[in-house]
Amino acid sequence: MSDRPVINFGAGPSKLPTEVLIDVQNTLLNYDNSGMSVMELSHRSKDYDKINDNGQKCIRELLNIPNDYAVLFMQGGGTGIFAAVALNLMTKSGTADYFITGIWSAKAAKEAEKYGKVNSVLPKMEKYDEIPDKSTWKLDPNASYVYYCDNETVNGIEFPFIPDTKGVPLVADMSSNILTRKFDITKFAIIFAGAQKNIGPPGVVLVIVKRDLLGKAMPICPTVLDFNIMARDNSLHNTPPTFSIFVMWRVFEWIKERGGIKGMEDRAKQKSSLIYDTIDQSEGFYSCTVKKPYRSRMNVPFIIPGHPELEVQFLNEAEQLKMVQLKGHRMVGGIRASLYNAITVDEAKVLADFMKSFRNKNIK
Ligand SMILES: *Cc1c(COP(=O)(O)O)cnc(C)c1O
Repeated sequence: MSDRPVINFGAGPSKLPTEVLIDVQNTLLNYDNSGMSVMELSHRSKDYDKINDNGQKCIRELLNIPNDYAVLFMQGGGTGIFAAVALNLMTKSGTADYFITGIWSAKAAKEAEKYGKVNSVLPKMEKYDEIPDKSTWKLDPNASYVYYCDNETVNGIEFPFIPDTKGVPLVADMSSNILTRKFDITKFAIIFAGAQKNIGPPGVVLVIVKRDLLGKAMPICPTVLDFNIMARDNSLHNTPPTFSIFVMWRVFEWIKERGGIKGMEDRAKQKSSLIYDTIDQSEGFYSCTVKKPYRSRMNVPFIIPGHPELEVQFLNEAEQLKMVQLKGHRMVGGIRASLYNAITVDEAKVLADFMKSFRNKNIK
């Protein structure tokens, strides 16, 4: 059912496509007849220029990114970009609006508070299990930008729509769901995504930024977090994470060969439906507390209500069957299956089948 020793349902770093890993392996000793490993190339060499350019070209094709947007390959992880967004953009009014729908958007808001005033768009939630109705939103027309996390990786909440900000620039953290569904890029000012979920190995963050927002950073903004400098220097201001960027490019090619974003979107629907249907048809044995319209297609958190001991047993038995990294995030517990692009439909089916047989054996 799987061409790998285990099925890795980890939330990130996560499974990479086997075809990409084999392709990368072939470049480790001699990249494109350079006689050097891809990891040994100078970032100022022609060979590396090609990697940098091709990576940008591929992502522009995949997401249909127009020329008035810059594509940047940056460092510092998603967390680094939490700060970068505020440092580059919070200069218009000194305030920004944040949708706090889970752990990652809460962290982003906390980081932004170091540099200006953060308004919370949503009423404070007891637990993260939905996106509150539009009638409860408090958007400030003078905010420098509106920020949200399109897919909350820990809480399993995904926006089924793009929030309407009435013209205020919109910033989205798509770290865990980029390249898994079509969207209209022109609705956004900035989109960013750490690579280690759907894009490649850790070390690089993809940042897509509308050019008319460049050049407005605070004077204290560190050079490596300044979108304008990174755009001006084609992501080559200082040494980029060359190997991570190379693998990312190969993942983009892999996606292109498999039906592009539409192909990924269709498979994401199939895979997540397999798991959610199993939960919903378990007659309460499993439970996912996220309200249905907001359930993530990427990260499926679930529990076995009232039976923490069965959750432990579930994780142990899954591991014996070579299904690994299913433990829920340390802050929320339970079980979490991450179904990123590299996870095949067959692999999701193996998990769904195991969930069914575990339920049938253990239901009281
Ligand atoms: C993983 C993740 C991050 C943080 O990434 P780091 O690279 O660890 O800083 C930010 N946002 C979301 C939605 C994530 O899933």
